[in-house]
Amino acid sequence: MDFRDSPQEAEFRARLRAWLAETAGRFPTSGDEYWARQGEWHQALYAAGFFGSSWPKEFGGHELPPVYDVIVDEELAIAGAPPRPSLGYLVQGLGRHGSKELQQRFLPGMINGTERWCQGFSEPGAGSDLASLTTTATRDGDEYVVHGHKIWTSYSDVADWCLLLARTDSEVPRHKGISAFIIAMKQPGVEQRPLQMISGVTREFGQVHFDGARVPADQMVGAPGDGWKLAMTVVGHEREPSTLGYAARYGKLVRQLAARLDGPAPDDLAWAAVQTEMLRLHVRRRLSEQLDGVVHGPDGSLDKLLMTWVDQSVGHAALAVTGTADPELLGSYFYSRAQSVMGGTSQIQKNIIASRILGLGV
Ligand SMILES: Cc1cc2nc3c(=O)[nH]c(=O)nc-3n(C[C@H](O)[C@H](O)[C@H](O)COP(=O)(O)OP(=O)(O)OC[C@H]3O[C@@H](n4cnc5c(N)ncnc54)[C@H](O)[C@@H]3O)c2cc1C
Repeated sequence: MDFRDSPQEAEFRARLRAWLAETAGRFPTSGDEYWARQGEWHQALYAAGFFGSSWPKEFGGHELPPVYDVIVDEELAIAGAPPRPSLGYLVQGLGRHGSKELQQRFLPGMINGTERWCQGFSEPGAGSDLASLTTTATRDGDEYVVHGHKIWTSYSDVADWCLLLARTDSEVPRHKGISAFIIAMKQPGVEQRPLQMISGVTREFGQVHFDGARVPADQMVGAPGDGWKLAMTVVGHEREPSTLGYAARYGKLVRQLAARLDGPAPDDLAWAAVQTEMLRLHVRRRLSEQLDGVVHGPDGSLDKLLMTWVDQSVGHAALAVTGTADPELLGSYFYSRAQSVMGGTSQIQKNIIASRILGLGV
């Protein structure tokens, strides 16, 4: 595959670069300020035509090939702008499992950023073993009533809607009794409590308590018991580096760290440079496969594992070059520790690779 820009891609890149030169500096890139203004950033990107590039036009996307998302990620990194808000996994979940009515009602607001979303899967006793979740949704006339406790719910403080997994049937095998809902976050019976991260960020995620919250029955995504299928789609897409699009950002950070050196590079930085280049080439290979129509399954776990290694290598390199002197780099080191947990831990990715790709009995 020829990775040089086509004339259309070059024109798109130039337009984006010009827009970023005007706009990027107005938005914070880290800390609580970043999270507080992430919605505004999302809407600005969308309004300028640079968000939702590869999603269907009928839901407000531009239906362009996935390479345009990579161009956006590259240019945002070059400009020092905040990253592209990552919600492709939710778009995929609703796009693949939701009815036409639910897609038409909810996808446009999700894509253009006027309605904010969170993902209510994990619970204090159900993370890796998601099928053991205990939040319940009980039918009451035309509604379901929800009780339970979700945790590590990213964006829960600002979310209008939650893609929620809840148990609707406890008589069947565990993963067959789970259903998915689109539940309003701003209603009586939903309480959100923020959680502070080691990096100092307090606005990224929280715990959510559901105590008698209500959801219309027609906001169930799919049929009763289909929640597990939706969950597998969502977590599968959470694991793709091309969706998360951080490869260009890591490369830039490594170059910035190298520029700070006045002696030989520490081993950690050299290793981060090798890993970053590996990820860049890997993302391109995945992109090329996508353009050939290859649909990914369990190999998303390889992507997630590779991205975690790279993120944490870059975090170690930052620590080796600047120590604890630079609060922003220290924050990115701390955040890199979360990469081997969020979206499914590294151990779970290895289990999936062993059982579903290598065919080993796990
Ligand atoms: C920054 C961040 C954002 C997140 N955002 C969200 C969100 O928006 N929505 C949401 O629902 N969740 C979210 N999560 C939660 C995340 O999905 C879970 O933390 C993750 O799935 C792990 O679950 P757990 O924390 O319960 O750990 P556990 O499952 O309790 O795991 C503890 C340890 O045991 C290991 N382990 C567990 N089972 C096995 C096994 N079978 N084989 C080998 N080792 C095993 C794990 O690898 C881990 O090291 C987020 C997490 C983070 C860190």
